[in-house]
Amino acid sequence: MAGIYLHIPFCRNACHYCDFHFSVSKIQLQRMINAMVTEIMRRKDYIKDEINTIYFGGGTPSFIPVLYIDTLIKTIKTNFNIAKDPEITLEANPEDINFSYLQNIFKIGINRLSIGIQSFYGKDLEFLNRCHSVKQAKMSIISSREVGFKNISIDLIYGFPGLKKTRWIKNIETAINFHVEHLSAYHLTYETGTVLNHRKNKRRIIEIEENESVEQFMELTTRMKSAGYLHYEISNFALKGFYSRHNTGYWHQIPYLGIGPSAHSYNGFSRQWNIAKNMSYIKKVESDKKYFETEILNLQTQYHDYIITSIRTMWGTDTEFIKDNFGAMYYKHYIINARKFVDSGDLMADGTRYYLTEKGMCISDFIIKSLFLDEV
Ligand code: SF4
Repeated sequence: MAGIYLHIPFCRNACHYCDFHFSVSKIQLQRMINAMVTEIMRRKDYIKDEINTIYFGGGTPSFIPVLYIDTLIKTIKTNFNIAKDPEITLEANPEDINFSYLQNIFKIGINRLSIGIQSFYGKDLEFLNRCHSVKQAKMSIISSREVGFKNISIDLIYGFPGLKKTRWIKNIETAINFHVEHLSAYHLTYETGTVLNHRKNKRRIIEIEENESVEQFMELTTRMKSAGYLHYEISNFALKGFYSRHNTGYWHQIPYLGIGPSAHSYNGFSRQWNIAKNMSYIKKVESDKKYFETEILNLQTQYHDYIITSIRTMWGTDTEFIKDNFGAMYYKHYIINARKFVDSGDLMADGTRYYLTEKGMCISDFIIKSLFLDEV
């Protein structure tokens, strides 16, 4: 099984926290789609396995006409071996969603929606510089249901200045009351080059205290779990059977092909990343020049990738897998270091598997770094 990710690099405006690759100008849209179609055809041999998931991310896939999404899906279908019931996800923003738009994407085969809600409060949306209103956020879920979508994920953000615990709880409860199948909830991070990072550096906004972050995370996990959701990855919750198949593929080291500017690909032995500039990507694809960088993964990088991706999930890391795939030295290093975190209550051991506890999830970056083996 494998996945295909398509990066649609256009957005209506720049959200104040976002450092993804996108352009707010759609002048080159037609050329971009043509280049992506060309890339799909050229790279049909990158993955031999059956394609189980297709994911339209960005950027804002719902910002471009449905016709283009349809063209990309059809090109994939004629160039790859597609599984019988592929998960086909489209990231959409509430301001783009109306009944006829939803009917159109439903018709072309999108069977999972990932809606960028972020908050059900106008004040938060304004702070984050989102384009949609609270009404649009709620209507996007209601209309998606009416059209027949049975697999809806929404995104929420927490941990930003001004977000009080009571409002955060209401956001979580609203998501639960909508019975969405999946929730991705991300703590704000201050990425270089973003407006919020600039404001923080100028001390125009102040980061929330660590204890508040932890409190908001704990509210999230407690409330989602008591509503019947599985906390299957640090930032992700799903009702049974509704894990994101595509993202779970990343965490299980399943190969994927990335199409479009800034998209990454992985085949188990190497990683590739496309140039993150729209015009350069288009021109290089059009003139059949190299538009990506490649890194061959050595054993150490493969081990680090395994730790980063698997420890985040409820399936955890498997020491047998480490022994079989990376050898005794990595195995020994892992066991010695993981034991310290088991003793401190940050990791839980169950046979050969090790998982993060909720306490451990709050310091996951530190734990991951400690499990790395930097000098070989
Ligand atoms: S958060 Fe989404 S909509 Fe906002 S700028 Fe980033 S990619 Fe675009």
